[in-house]
Amino acid sequence: MIAVLAISSLSEPAFAQEVSPTEPFGERDTYYPNTEALGKDEMRVIACGTGMPTTRAAQAAACFLVELGNGDKFIFDIGSGSAERISSLQIPYDYLDKVFIGHLHADHFGSLAELWIGGALMGRQKPLRVWGPSGPSEELGTAAAIEALKMVYRWDLAGRVGLVDFRGYDLQVNEFDYKGENAVVYEEDGVTIRSWPAIHSLDGPVSFGLEWNGLKFVFSSDTYPNNWFNEYAKDADLAIHECFVAVPSLVAKMGFTPEQALLVGTQIHTAPEAFGKVMSEIEPRMAVAYHFFKDFDTTAEVYSRIRTTYEGPLSLAEDFMVWNITEDEIRVRLAVVEEATWAPPLTGEAQPPGGDADREAFSDSSGVAVEDMIYSDFILGGSWDGVEDALRGVYKEAEEKLGQTFPYPGDE
Ligand SMILES: [Zn+2]
Ligand SMILES: [Zn+2]
Repeated sequence: MIAVLAISSLSEPAFAQEVSPTEPFGERDTYYPNTEALGKDEMRVIACGTGMPTTRAAQAAACFLVELGNGDKFIFDIGSGSAERISSLQIPYDYLDKVFIGHLHADHFGSLAELWIGGALMGRQKPLRVWGPSGPSEELGTAAAIEALKMVYRWDLAGRVGLVDFRGYDLQVNEFDYKGENAVVYEEDGVTIRSWPAIHSLDGPVSFGLEWNGLKFVFSSDTYPNNWFNEYAKDADLAIHECFVAVPSLVAKMGFTPEQALLVGTQIHTAPEAFGKVMSEIEPRMAVAYHFFKDFDTTAEVYSRIRTTYEGPLSLAEDFMVWNITEDEIRVRLAVVEEATWAPPLTGEAQPPGGDADREAFSDSSGVAVEDMIYSDFILGGSWDGVEDALRGVYKEAEEKLGQTFPYPGDE
């Protein structure tokens, strides 16, 4: 039995669609990752974090994934909590090897180590590449931060090297001058990414613009409204700009003093009213506001404040909001994702563990002695022989199932 369902929206005339009690009835307002191809002229942007430095389950901190019809994917900021949003999209990690960081606040790069190390474990077979700005001094730049991060995780890496395919644990950094004004920081395969200065906290922060195939995506990261953004973000197809928690909510919900709320909410960040001014200036096809806790009792407050200064197309971002952008249309949906994520498929053949050769290479780059990358006799002396029978059984099971020989460690 076929009924007719009429669907209408404000922007499009009503249309009819066939409906059946047993057949799927086609497109709705949700996006299911890994179920639809990206058109060759299409850009898809997914919010993998839209929140604040104070973590919450409902919203990770700043992170936007840009996917292009030529197969390229770029991550802009990777704030605290965002790595698990990324993983729930089930994208092979070899495709997620380029991260652009606007500034070094935790809510903009706090999840980098998770993508780096977790991504390698989940199948990335190539280095993770990071782009980020210089700072007011060398030690405040992205390169110094990444080197320090590698040092923080030295023990982690020293315990893995030799035992796993180590290619994905390589973390590479490309630091560029934060003072570049619309300067090209990446140019490959028809994709150009530019940066310009942002005004936020200290010298160093930048905003980004990505141009490909006649489409333009811009991302402010964090900034006070500025002339650079007004100039270089002009006429973007999708313009993502921070829009901070409104000052009254900073006082009522975050416990700020009025003085602190006014300073942080209007001078360090972009207040909703100022966000609207910026968007009226650059006139994007779609303005995207992020960097506020979007709740039942804050959404209207932010929205009405933006609307005092901007009347154009607007998305109030939340995690998993999806924008499909073509020359003709910008379609906005929410992704429905699988939270219990396992590793997505590999794009290339896995390499067996590199053993001592990998340990020696890691020793050269990290300064860790090779003999410290394996157990000492002291620790080995504590291992319990009583489990060996049970574990030999697992090897035997594998041998029987696969018709192959797997020597038990220590046996020759
Ligand atoms: Zn910040
Ligand atoms: Zn921030």
